[in-house]
Amino acid sequence: LGELGQSITQHLGLIVQAMHTFSSEENSREAELTQQLSDMQSKLDEMEKLAEIAQHAIEEQRKKAMHDALTGLPNRESYQQRLEQEAHRIGRYGGKLSLMVCDVDLFKRINDTYGHLAGDKVLKIIAKSLQNNLRDTDFIARFGGEEFVALMPETSAEEAKLVAEKLRKKIESSPFNFKKEPVQITVSFGISQFGQDESVDDVFSRADKALYQAKDNGRNQVQLG
Ligand code: GH3
Ligand code: MG
Ligand code: MG
Repeated sequence: LGELGQSITQHLGLIVQAMHTFSSEENSREAELTQQLSDMQSKLDEMEKLAEIAQHAIEEQRKKAMHDALTGLPNRESYQQRLEQEAHRIGRYGGKLSLMVCDVDLFKRINDTYGHLAGDKVLKIIAKSLQNNLRDTDFIARFGGEEFVALMPETSAEEAKLVAEKLRKKIESSPFNFKKEPVQITVSFGISQFGQDESVDDVFSRADKALYQAKDNGRNQVQLG
């Protein structure tokens, strides 16, 4: 009986020891898993930060792709997109929409006389003037070179003409100073209003023809097409 008691005590000791070993192994496994979890969390945080940076960069690039670097105005691609949207809107819901194209008069001469940098400055000033004098709902873009376009929702050709006339006078009467010498800048305008079921190309072509007419008639004027 004594021997049996001893053997039981011995075995119990072994079992307790095994349990201790198991429990301490379990603890270190748990600590290891906790560490792994925290490592993964930091990696996840880091990846989220990188994703955010990438998102910003994509946003920046998208903005750059849709804007003109010199004037900061939306560019031609941007205009094309907006044109489709606006044309679709009036096709569906009706309403007025006018298109204004404008072109700086004798701009080549400004470049030739005062240099390309002065020309660039004139373009920036005209872009600002367009932004400041058109409505928030109007969409203005640099179409290319010294040409700008504006889409004017809920505006008839006659109303657009009044706006253009105001703008024309403003530009004409605010001389651009070059080396303290005042230089007069003028702009010609062509305007057309979207007709029912008219294609965007046809509307543009009417505005463009009107612009050419303004040039032919002596520049610094607004023509309806
Ligand atoms: P018009 O009154 O008939 O429009 O004459 P214009 O001289 O304005 O027309 P033309 O098309 O002959 O010349 C346009 C000039 O615009 C030529 C080109 O060098 C200049 N130009 C186009 N883009 C830029 C630009 O970003 N910066 C500068 N400084 N000049 C530009
Ligand atoms: Mg031109
Ligand atoms: Mg020009």
